[in-house]
Amino acid sequence: MNNELLTFARNHVWHPYDSLKDPIPALDVVRAAGTTLYLSDGRELTDGMSGWWSVCHGYGHPVIISEMEKQLRRMSHVMFAGLIHEPAAEVARRLSAMTPQGLSDVFFADSGSVAVEIALKMAVQYQESRMPSRKRFLTVRGGYHGDTLGAMSVTDPGNGFSGSLGWYIPEQIFISRPGIPFGAPWDAGAMDELHEALERYQDEIAGFILEPVMQGAGGMYFYHPEYLRAARKLTRDYDVIFICDEIATGFGRTGEMFACDYAGISPDIMTLGKGLTGGMISLSAVLTGDKIREGVHRSSARALMHGPTFMANPLAVSAALGSLKALESYDWRARVHHIEEILKRELAPLAASPLVRETRVLGAVGAVEMRQPVHTAAMQAFLTGEGVWLRPFGNIVYIYPPFVITDEDLLRCVRSVEKLISGMEKGVIRGFRE
Ligand code: PMP
Repeated sequence: MNNELLTFARNHVWHPYDSLKDPIPALDVVRAAGTTLYLSDGRELTDGMSGWWSVCHGYGHPVIISEMEKQLRRMSHVMFAGLIHEPAAEVARRLSAMTPQGLSDVFFADSGSVAVEIALKMAVQYQESRMPSRKRFLTVRGGYHGDTLGAMSVTDPGNGFSGSLGWYIPEQIFISRPGIPFGAPWDAGAMDELHEALERYQDEIAGFILEPVMQGAGGMYFYHPEYLRAARKLTRDYDVIFICDEIATGFGRTGEMFACDYAGISPDIMTLGKGLTGGMISLSAVLTGDKIREGVHRSSARALMHGPTFMANPLAVSAALGSLKALESYDWRARVHHIEEILKRELAPLAASPLVRETRVLGAVGAVEMRQPVHTAAMQAFLTGEGVWLRPFGNIVYIYPPFVITDEDLLRCVRSVEKLISGMEKGVIRGFRE
């Protein structure tokens, strides 16, 4: 774009969680293809972020484009109250077939945060006819579920996503994050706190929500899947609705199709988003089954109190259909496993740095936990100079590549992180917040 327009945009278009006085100068991207972002100044960046964790098959996947092009000529948006169309029906059928058993029903929504709102409403409306005092939610520390108010209420306030809005957000019940890391020996005592909270607050809790196996925005933390199995049993015993937020983990990211598959469990409600359309366009889905359908039907409203204008937008569900077909068209599991092996091998030596607390890898996610909060702007300036698009946050520098990334591009991401850390050790890069 021309300089005048870029200056206008930099002065007046707000960016997520950025300073309004001194924002990180946004880079002008003109094209994206495969795993590369092309900037107007001629630079090319390898995207190690998958467009904020959504572009799992790379940018511009031909199967997704083809499904969208076909749909674009058939019809634009049509309201979903009273109408149905084939791409929505087809995606719903595919989702209910591929998700864990019992998740037969689908509610389409606009974004991940909205899917979480819907999941919470489903749980409250389910409880209404059974125990109406159950209106609050139980969740774990370290979680992130989105930026709308209900989603914020079950996001750890300590993650820094709520600023001073605390008074505005419903108050929920938090317990410690699942303490046993992925791969560590299991100890049944790890469930005591959940058990105690369910016992103590059983008259108040409508549902228990968490991100299965991987806490994403809470710091790329991976925990033992046995926690999910035990939580499934406990929530069933107390008839508390178990909600698994698979918005970041769904569609293969952690090495299984869904992170719940590591535990072989089926939650009462599952939220999906991000990779659902291969990152092509915003769409989310809430999966549930007989129990919630019947429970919501018994509520005084007799229907779920949610109905967005763009529900099941035909273009968006066609993108989802394309993305599900794309997922079938290559061995994503082998790709994710290959990425995992490279990330494990290449990131582990970084743990020797005095600046690094730990490195962690699961599936196509590799994280380097630093000992202090990072200076995103300084790190990003260095990393773009190295030809990669990575956006560290909190204490975390991480790589979250599209599944189709080449070894060469993945190694470019890794080498850039290595150089970043060694530059910080030498004092040439000021990568920590002052
Ligand atoms: N849940 C999880 C686990 C997420 O990672 C995110 C987004 N990072 C959301 C919900 C919110 O999704 P969206 O940004 O599409 O509203």
